[in-house]
Formats: sequence, structure tokens, C-alpha cells
Amino acid sequence: QAKHRGRNRSYRFEPALGEQSLFRMSIRKEIKQALEQDDFFIEYQPKIDCHTESLVGLEALVRWQHPSRGRIPPDEFIFLAEQTGQIIDLGDWVLDSVIRQLAHWSSKPLDPVTVSVNLSAIQLHQTGFADRLETLLNHHKVPPERLELELTESILMGQEEAVTQTLNRLRALGIVISIDDFGTGYSSLSYLCRFPIDVLKIDRSFVDRVDQRRDQQQVVRAIVQLARSLELDIVAEGVERAEEVHFFRDLGVSRMQGYYFAHPMTMDALERQFDPMQRRV
Ligand code: C2E
Ligand code: MG
Ligand code: MG
Ligand code: MG
Repeated sequence: QAKHRGRNRSYRFEPALGEQSLFRMSIRKEIKQALEQDDFFIEYQPKIDCHTESLVGLEALVRWQHPSRGRIPPDEFIFLAEQTGQIIDLGDWVLDSVIRQLAHWSSKPLDPVTVSVNLSAIQLHQTGFADRLETLLNHHKVPPERLELELTESILMGQEEAVTQTLNRLRALGIVISIDDFGTGYSSLSYLCRFPIDVLKIDRSFVDRVDQRRDQQQVVRAIVQLARSLELDIVAEGVERAEEVHFFRDLGVSRMQGYYFAHPMTMDALERQFDPMQRRV
């Protein structure tokens, strides 16, 4: 009976074992192909200072232009790449592309903008990750201060000793460390003191309609206070409406990211739209 239930369950919620490995095999093949054929590309979303509306940074967001399925968003393939282990190759490709881009800009209008890259746990936990990143930056003569790594709270949980060592190495190089989707990880806040963190990105669920929700406002105020007392920079992410901009501006949070200011865009579009005099997009 238990066997029957088990089989039922696996039938309802996921492909049966045989199918599952088949699925994984074909996903593995497709991701490998996509890497070989250059079907992945990067869009960059501006981070803005709301006072001057000037560009203060960019976030690299990977996309998959699939030859038959069309455009696939990262929420649909990152976790698959994590399951197959190919996030290492994909993540290397993203880091390599971004660092090349930074090298290409040196003494061009977009210099000296900082670019952030989202990191998966598997990448951070890889032995020698910090060394390889240092080598890559040196090779392209890119100052480490120009690279920011966005980590979610869940990445920091577990293997604390190793994570602390890696983050300390990265931070010592000058790489900026930020916590993405802050406030959604349900984790102990003690990690904020333990790890060398520079920036908190307030998750967009706290930003959404914050002007209309009193309890949400209190939570955001507490987060901002916490960040200030720890001397961390703050970015409000997913800002879509003027009222949200005003709320954060009044709180003294000036760095924002969201569709209100700019959508993620290709580097071509960004370079075309960027006004070097005003430093605006
Ligand atoms: P994230 O790092 O939290 O990125 C923010 C997501 O919110 C992006 O979705 C962005 O396009 C979207 N966004 C920005 N402004 C707004 C807004 O005003 N409103 C709304 N509704 N959404 C907004 P995207 O590009 O689909 O990426 C989803 C997630 O995929 C990212 O969340 C990140 O966790 C992951 N991801 C993207 N690129 C990479 C990568 O190269 N490596 C890894 N490991 N993960 C990545
Ligand atoms: Mg991010
Ligand atoms: Mg985020
Ligand atoms: Mg996210």
C-alpha cells in the first residue's frame, strides 16, 4: 500500500524516476547546446539614484533565447542548471561576460559603473571560487571594486566556516557583497554581523504598494534602521510606482531599481540610451 501511495505521489507531483532522469538528461543536453551555440545572453538593469536619476550601477540578468521554445526566463532554468550542476559553467559564462564588458568600458562613458552578478550557492561553495575570480579580474585588468555579487540569504546558510572564508577573501579583494531579496529568507539575522556584507537589497514584496500599507511601512522602516546601524548601503528593488519612490526617498533611501526607472535591457540598448553628460538612461 505504501508502495502504491508512493508511486501515486511521484506520478502526481513529478515525473516518475525513469522519466525524471530522461528529463534531466535532455535538459542537460539543451543547456550544454545553449552554452555552445551562444543562446544565453545578458540583460542589464540599471540601479538609479532617485535624487539625480543618475545611473549608480547595473545588475546582470541572464536570459535564454531557445531556438524553438523562444525566450525562457531565468526563474525557469536556473534551478534546472543547479540540479544538473551546469550552473557552474553557466555562472562562469555570466561572470566572464560581465568582466569582459567591464574591461571593454574602461575609459568609455559607462565607466566606472559597478555591475552586479547573481550567484548560486553551488558557485560560492565551489573550492577555489575566490581565486578563480581574482585571476579572471586580473587577466582583464578590471578593478574588483567594479564587481558586485548578489547572494540570497539561503546561500549563506550551512557550511558557515567555508562561506565566511570565501566571503572574506572576496571582500578583501574589494568585491562588493550584497544580500538580494532581503527579508524573504526567514533566516537568523545574526549572519549580518558574521559575514562581510556591503549592501542590502530590500525585496520587492516589501516595496510593492508600500505607500498604502501601514504594517509593511513599519517593517521597511525597521529594515532601513537595521541597515543604517550596521552601516550597510540600501537598494529598494522592484520599484514600479512614483508613490513607492516617494516613500523610500522620504526615508532617505536613494538607490532604487525597478520598472519605474528602467527595465533590464541589452548592452546595445543601454549604450544607445545612456546620456554621458547627465549619466542617465
Ligand atoms: P533577482 O536577482 O532578485 O532579480 C530581480 C528580478 O526582478 C529580475 O527578474 C528583474 O527583471 C525583475 N524586476 C526588476 N524590476 C522589477 C519591477 O519593477 N517589477 C517586477 N515585477 N519585477 C522586476 P529576472 O530577470 O526574471 O530574474 C529572476 C531571478 O533569476 C533573479 O532575481 C535571480 O535570482 C535569478 N537570476 C538571474 N540571472 C541570474 C544569474 O546569472 N545567475 C543566477 N544564479 N541567478 C540569476
Ligand atoms: Mg539580484
Ligand atoms: Mg532580488
Ligand atoms: Mg530573486
